[in-house]
Amino acid sequence: MTSSLPNALATWSEAPRVRSLNACSVRTDGRYVLCWLQQALRARDNPVIDAAICLANDLGLPVLVYHGLREDYPYASDRLHRFILGASRDLARECRQRGLACVQHVEQADAREKGLVYRLAADSAAVIVEDQPTFVARWQSERFAARTDRAVIAVNAACLVPPAVLGDDIGSTTGFRRRHQPLRGDWSATDDLHPEAAAYDGPLPFASDRLEDRTDADIDRLIGNAAIDHSLTLSPLFPLGRDGALAMLERLMDDMLPSYAAVRNDATRPEGASMLSPYLHFGVIGPREIMATVEAAAAPVNAKEKFADELLTWREWFHYQARALPAPEQYDRISGWARETLEAHSSDERPDLETLEALLRGETRDETWNACQRQFLIDGWMHNNLRMYWGKRIIAMTPDPKTAWATACYLNDRLSLDGRDPSTYGNIAASFGGGSPGSDGPAIYGKVPTRSDGSTRRRPGGPEWIEAAAARARPEPGAAPRLPVELYLSDQPAT
Ligand SMILES: Cc1cc2nc3c(=O)[nH]c(=O)nc-3n(C[C@H](O)[C@H](O)[C@H](O)COP(=O)(O)OP(=O)(O)OC[C@H]3O[C@@H](n4cnc5c(N)ncnc54)[C@H](O)[C@@H]3O)c2cc1C
Repeated sequence: MTSSLPNALATWSEAPRVRSLNACSVRTDGRYVLCWLQQALRARDNPVIDAAICLANDLGLPVLVYHGLREDYPYASDRLHRFILGASRDLARECRQRGLACVQHVEQADAREKGLVYRLAADSAAVIVEDQPTFVARWQSERFAARTDRAVIAVNAACLVPPAVLGDDIGSTTGFRRRHQPLRGDWSATDDLHPEAAAYDGPLPFASDRLEDRTDADIDRLIGNAAIDHSLTLSPLFPLGRDGALAMLERLMDDMLPSYAAVRNDATRPEGASMLSPYLHFGVIGPREIMATVEAAAAPVNAKEKFADELLTWREWFHYQARALPAPEQYDRISGWARETLEAHSSDERPDLETLEALLRGETRDETWNACQRQFLIDGWMHNNLRMYWGKRIIAMTPDPKTAWATACYLNDRLSLDGRDPSTYGNIAASFGGGSPGSDGPAIYGKVPTRSDGSTRRRPGGPEWIEAAAARARPEPGAAPRLPVELYLSDQPAT
């Protein structure tokens, strides 16, 4: 059961981004409004923080922003931790500039505070969280809302157009585009609110790690002390934090946008991809800010439209879809006809079967697939044009469709900075059978359309590019943890 929104939020201009996660009422005896961030790690253009300020101003209270990083989230690694903490440090610095207190806890040996969000909530009037439709941020928010006695209010910061204004009846990307496009202008303005109370400096149940004052070496030490997967190295491609996101955006404006529509699909020319997905996944930058910059650029209209279609239609469509699913990470979200045909073919002979170790390391008998997988393994990211081939081939390289789903999600989620996202599961589901069925044809795939590597191999220089990409020196990933199939198979709970 959920309660109605407090009046300050119900009448706020961004109200359609906001919903209550439990039936508790806002308290009048809190010291602050707690703003618990998990993935929307930015201080500006962040509707989660603005919702907290909106409510806090109404109550005459300050906002306390909290970000904690545990050691036990699935696939916790140096790669993910470093990207997250780079963003969190800038979050704290910019909160300070906005007059907001931000406290952080990085779990590590000798510093394992338990139940911090509950302890912080105990002094709050209400807790504002982000409305994420997948993975840890969703599971934690839902679990917390069910257990706490404080009002928990979720705010969508990931999408330009709040999914709630789109209705619940859209069944295709064409329908989504048609409904979404005319609304974009209404949701493009940034609404950075000003806190009226001074920054909170009252009592806290723990000592903040104060990342804003930490050097890179300090952060590396924190990560070194954490019980996480240290075998996955940092990505060489993605500079950290807010500056990293802005550098990628500048690269898009200066070098790429004019030729975006023509070059985006060419994996042999990585300069054609915006490489913004990791920053979007961790909320270091939001779609509003990106689109405002793109709209202001001196680039051809068709390039801007193509970019907007990727960022706003495709990305927000998968958010929209995930929001309506009880467990978007799980196998049973694949369309019924695709499951039926794949399962009907599950006993077909599989000459391309590979071990999980060969897949993880990009050491299969398929050179193109290895080139794709090495991008995940080394860069923590894969070019868009390779991903559909990569996803579909896993169906033939694993013993059955359920193992294929769990394997694809595992590789994407463990290795890619942008994994664990609505776009992860939506796109893997699409590669396992989005759209309409074909005629019942090839072994293993049945009616699921297959994909060749021709779009890369047939380009001038394509075979040479694939050969070099498949042979790139790779890190040695630690022994593959047991596939966490319970995350991905429908006969197990997601939490
Ligand atoms: C099997 C498979 C797995 C994928 N896994 C992920 C994933 O884990 N995380 C992820 O963010 N995307 C995923 N995608 C979608 C897409 O490939 C990536 O978003 C894109 O390649 C990211 O690179 P970029 O930032 O350079 O994107 P660009 O090509 O420059 O596009 C700009 C932005 O548009 C959005 N976008 C582009 N294509 C898509 C798409 N097909 N679906 C949703 N949004 C899109 C992204 O936010 C992207 O950053 C997957 C696609 C497939 C086929």
